[in-house]
Amino acid sequence: MLRRLREIMAEPARAQTRLDRLVRTIAANMVADVCSIYLRRAGDQLELFATHGLNSDAVHKTRLRWGEGLVGAIAVSSSPLNLRDAPSHPTFSYRSETGEDPFHSFLGVPILRSGRLLGVLVVQNETERLYTEEEVEALQTVAMVLAEVAASGELIDPAEFDDVDDVLHGPERFSAVGIVEGVGIGRAAFHEPPVQVINLIADDVAAEEERLQDAIEALRKSVDAMLAKMDRRLMGVPREVLETYRMFAHDRGWLNRLREAVLSGLTAEAAVQRVKGENRARMLQSDNAYLRDRLHDLDDLAHRLLRHLAGGGGAEPLNIPDDAILFARTLGPAELLEYDYRKLRGVVLGEGSAASHVAIVARALELPLIARSDDALDRTDANDPVIIDGAAGEVHVRPTADITQAYRAKLELQSERQAAFAAARDLPAVTRDGVEIDLQMNAGLLVDLPHLEETGASGIGLFRTELQFMVSTALPRLPQQVSLYRDVIAAAGDRPVVFRTVDLGSDKVLPYMQHEREDNPALGWRAIRLSLDRPGLMRLQLRALLQASAGRPLQVLFPMITIPEEIEAARHLLDREMERGRRLGQTPPTEVAVGAMIEVPAIAWRLDALLRQVDFISIGGNDLVQFFFAADRTSERIGKRYDLLSPAFLSFLSGIVAGAKAKEVPVSFCGEQASQPLEALGLLATGLRRLSAPATAIGPVKQMVRSLHLSELNAHIAPMLKADQASIREPLRNYAHASGVLI
Ligand code: PEP
Ligand code: MG
Repeated sequence: MLRRLREIMAEPARAQTRLDRLVRTIAANMVADVCSIYLRRAGDQLELFATHGLNSDAVHKTRLRWGEGLVGAIAVSSSPLNLRDAPSHPTFSYRSETGEDPFHSFLGVPILRSGRLLGVLVVQNETERLYTEEEVEALQTVAMVLAEVAASGELIDPAEFDDVDDVLHGPERFSAVGIVEGVGIGRAAFHEPPVQVINLIADDVAAEEERLQDAIEALRKSVDAMLAKMDRRLMGVPREVLETYRMFAHDRGWLNRLREAVLSGLTAEAAVQRVKGENRARMLQSDNAYLRDRLHDLDDLAHRLLRHLAGGGGAEPLNIPDDAILFARTLGPAELLEYDYRKLRGVVLGEGSAASHVAIVARALELPLIARSDDALDRTDANDPVIIDGAAGEVHVRPTADITQAYRAKLELQSERQAAFAAARDLPAVTRDGVEIDLQMNAGLLVDLPHLEETGASGIGLFRTELQFMVSTALPRLPQQVSLYRDVIAAAGDRPVVFRTVDLGSDKVLPYMQHEREDNPALGWRAIRLSLDRPGLMRLQLRALLQASAGRPLQVLFPMITIPEEIEAARHLLDREMERGRRLGQTPPTEVAVGAMIEVPAIAWRLDALLRQVDFISIGGNDLVQFFFAADRTSERIGKRYDLLSPAFLSFLSGIVAGAKAKEVPVSFCGEQASQPLEALGLLATGLRRLSAPATAIGPVKQMVRSLHLSELNAHIAPMLKADQASIREPLRNYAHASGVLI
């Protein structure tokens, strides 16, 4: 039957003529008295498009609403309906024009494409009987083939769905978690794009079965290999996910359904697609979050299987449209950096959180980012128009013209706001009572550097050197490192730059570097711990920094110092490199300042010992908050549970700041939190006078500073900090509003 259907579909006739022939052929093959095709029209209607056996006058006249009658019920449930006696079914809706009185048995299946309903295919017989499972399967296979005709745009002008309430590709809005602010307007592109299946009907069933078998074997092997040794793309994926992959890859039910689909005459690819479509349709209906999560696994597995069938099995090339909104379940920072950022307009993730490194990279690239939006991932197709609103945490898929217009206006406003900040670039960051605040910028890539000029930041307070390591395919050699650091220094001109030595480990793993799996990577072999254990790596970097800073001051910052002895060891390596440079007659930096990042609470109890060893300290709020509250910074659920703006944390900070000031050691704060004017306000109340934040934050934070009366704030906040409460966010916000502080 499939072969015959393919012939009909290839005929040079009009689509309607082909549809008429299709229903006749299907009816003949299924020994059915009736075969009808209903297609979805705008406004949630299902229209009879072709029939064999019912009254032909009813074609294009009979329409059923969504949920109306048996056909409407199939549409709603997206699953087959097999009835011995249709007229006695409670949802049966009698339509006299169709002349369906004599028919009793009824089998209807949804016509689905990418989990979306395009129509309903029905067969009916006069006799009362239940259709067999094979018949249901066969009709589903036919429906899949029909989906291609239905979606071709020949039968129904796709424009029909353009401005009416578009049911095929209707506008949808998803609320998720906004991580990086900003508006992005573009088209959906998938990090792992689905393979397009073109050949649906098999020429040689046995050969297809063999192809399927081979691909399944290859898939199983790759899943097993992945589990044995996590591959780079899956580094961020929890182990259970991979275990589930394996379970599904060996799941008999799934494999049997695939094989049956092939035996029914589909190509192996079409079989994968069909079974995937069925799973999607079924699982999307489910309210059960666990089941819906499994849908991703099955989807991913199906994509992998398709790639194996295509002969690849490996990664897809990272080709994206010019205005891409990148969708991914999970995405590592290095993976984001593999894309041409000039083409990206935003990122939508199934997972992720504000402090994750992919968010830091997105912020550096000024890409709005939304996380925890699995629903949006499920209900978006490649190339769908998408608008994301990072501040509101909203994803608009296939938005209406109104929404698009509103967001375009918002974008314009945003650029006006940015223009206003740019105009304030040269104004000093001084409070109303004359206190100067040093606003510096975080950076890590060459693309960040022009922001120094644009924002008027006074320097680079944190240069994350590991980003270069993460975008490279191999460990950057000395000349490459020197060259980047020179570029950074050149861009900074007279402004200071603080180079942080590589902060690797945790979620910043290098594909080319051996790294053992850890149960708690954030608490594991990372940052200074890794660097001290790999002195070769560290010395090479220090050498590069010294060479690049020849004849000017160098500031080196060591990450995640837990005990002062770590700074001592790091200093020792630095001294050896300086000695080496002297021996070789190289021009040294005019001065070398050594700094420690305060990211682990323990160091606060040995602060004096640390302060004796360093020239400055910088508080890494992302990690410090994470370890202070024992709350994973990459988990959105936990990450926002405890507030930096709490008396507990702020007084802890005040202690560190006061300690540093007492010893006249400069102190700054370089966590992402300083990018929020309200948070920055709280930080100033702890005595901090130097903040380093992403470039986009300089304007808004400066605006806040210039509207602030600092001693008034201090008087106001003092009792709040003594209060026994979890957060002072609201009272602080109220204070800002009441006293005209622009937050
Ligand atoms: C921090 O922890 O606050 C910090 C600046 O370092 P990173 O975010 O790179 O871990
Ligand atoms: Mg850190």
